[in-house]
Amino acid sequence: MGEGNAKGLSSYLASLGFEIGRFKTGTSPRIHKDSIDWDELTPEASIDRPSRFSFMSEPRMWHKQVCYSTYTNDRTHKVIRDNIDRAPLFDGTIEGVGPRYCPSIEDKIMRFPDRRRHQVYLEIESEESCDVYILGLSTSLPEDVQYQMVHTLPGLTRAQITRPGYAIEYDFLVPSQILPTLEVQDIYGLYTAGQINGTSGYEEAAAQGLMAGINAVMSIKGEEPLILGRKDAYIGVLIDDLINTVIVEPYRMLTSRAEYRLLLRHSTAPSRLTPLGRRVGLVSDDRWAAYCEREELLTKGRSLLEKRVSGSPIKDLLRKPSCYIEDFFGIIDGLDELPEEILDEVEVEAKYSGFIERQNREARRLQKHRERKLPRDVDWTKVRGLSRETVDKLVRFRPDSLGKALDVGVSPSDAMVILAWLRGGKIGSVDSKV
Ligand SMILES: Cc1cc2nc3c(=O)[nH]c(=O)nc-3n(C[C@H](O)[C@H](O)[C@H](O)COP(=O)(O)OP(=O)(O)OC[C@H]3O[C@@H](n4cnc5c(N)ncnc54)[C@H](O)[C@@H]3O)c2cc1C
Repeated sequence: MGEGNAKGLSSYLASLGFEIGRFKTGTSPRIHKDSIDWDELTPEASIDRPSRFSFMSEPRMWHKQVCYSTYTNDRTHKVIRDNIDRAPLFDGTIEGVGPRYCPSIEDKIMRFPDRRRHQVYLEIESEESCDVYILGLSTSLPEDVQYQMVHTLPGLTRAQITRPGYAIEYDFLVPSQILPTLEVQDIYGLYTAGQINGTSGYEEAAAQGLMAGINAVMSIKGEEPLILGRKDAYIGVLIDDLINTVIVEPYRMLTSRAEYRLLLRHSTAPSRLTPLGRRVGLVSDDRWAAYCEREELLTKGRSLLEKRVSGSPIKDLLRKPSCYIEDFFGIIDGLDELPEEILDEVEVEAKYSGFIERQNREARRLQKHRERKLPRDVDWTKVRGLSRETVDKLVRFRPDSLGKALDVGVSPSDAMVILAWLRGGKIGSVDSKV
């Protein structure tokens, strides 16, 4: 895309004795929205109730229909196969390990030759731009091949490419050399965040950038660093995984990587994190006042759910799938006056409480069973319910205990599957609902 590269930085770090790795990633072509025959595509429904990231902003729905889907076909696959020798991802120019969860289209065609079609999604990128993103068509092929490939898709026979797809390779600092504050070990005052730490993704980079910035300032001020735990936030899981597990492919945050994922709901983020943000000076008085008001309403909502109906507290009745908070409007004074978002939250807390208790028990059990031995001669591909990523790690590293499996990055949810399988003892005796 005409951007220069930062030569010298990684070779300098390597000369200081740091271990440097190499990953790759890519993106798909963007096409002009006016060059698409929308009627030939399948609309994919959006949520009908607008949601928001921050309790400081108003929910907003900018477009009723933003996503459509279609499929590649034999002609698309032929174009790719005929030109595969022109793809840097395949001609040996690019060798790094790519992101597992967004492989290039040429990767998909060459690795799964039996698949006759691959689904692609067309996403309108924003209100302001005319670009449409083709999710699933990431590619390193030259622009003329991209035109041929795109024109084989239904609805895109006359599509205009506004920005071609491309692939890149990049160096990263193997993140076991980084401290939980994101300061680089042995280099006082140097903090790293994002792609340079082996992650892939906008959110992953932004989250680390925030933490590195906070901790750099805390260090300068001589104050306590801010380190989030795995139970506090996905950021805690992300940084802990980066530092303490083996990173062999671009790291992406997935909910399955968090053992306390039911606690880490987006709706609990204000309660979990605003006081910490206030401590480090990042929460304004306005935000703090809005937070305090929200907490008061939550407390009020929770106390209303303690009230009893037919002898049982409402919060217990709500555990039944058929029971909803609105069922108590008019029965409990003041309940229907609470904002919808507060009602949603206290209802979810009540409904999830049993699952959260179970999840906490499971997380404790995983820690207790870290020493549990794993047999050396298992064919992990035959154990049902494990993700492909976990199977790859088990085959590659052959960890001899559950703890070591966690250390090479097997997710806690897959570790629970392994634990249940060990108890059952038989390959194929476990499904994913453990
Ligand atoms: C082609 C492609 C497609 C991608 N698609 C997606 C996607 O769809 N979704 C997603 O979540 N993620 C995607 N990613 C990944 C995501 O873009 C990156 O993980 C993320 O942007 C990394 O952020 P960063 O801040 O670590 O690095 P960058 O965004 O690369 O920022 C580093 C900055 O440092 C600057 N810089 C470098 N050297 C110097 C220097 N010596 N002095 C001053 N400045 C310097 C650079 O100019 C750059 O602005 C994609 C990445 C690529 C390459």
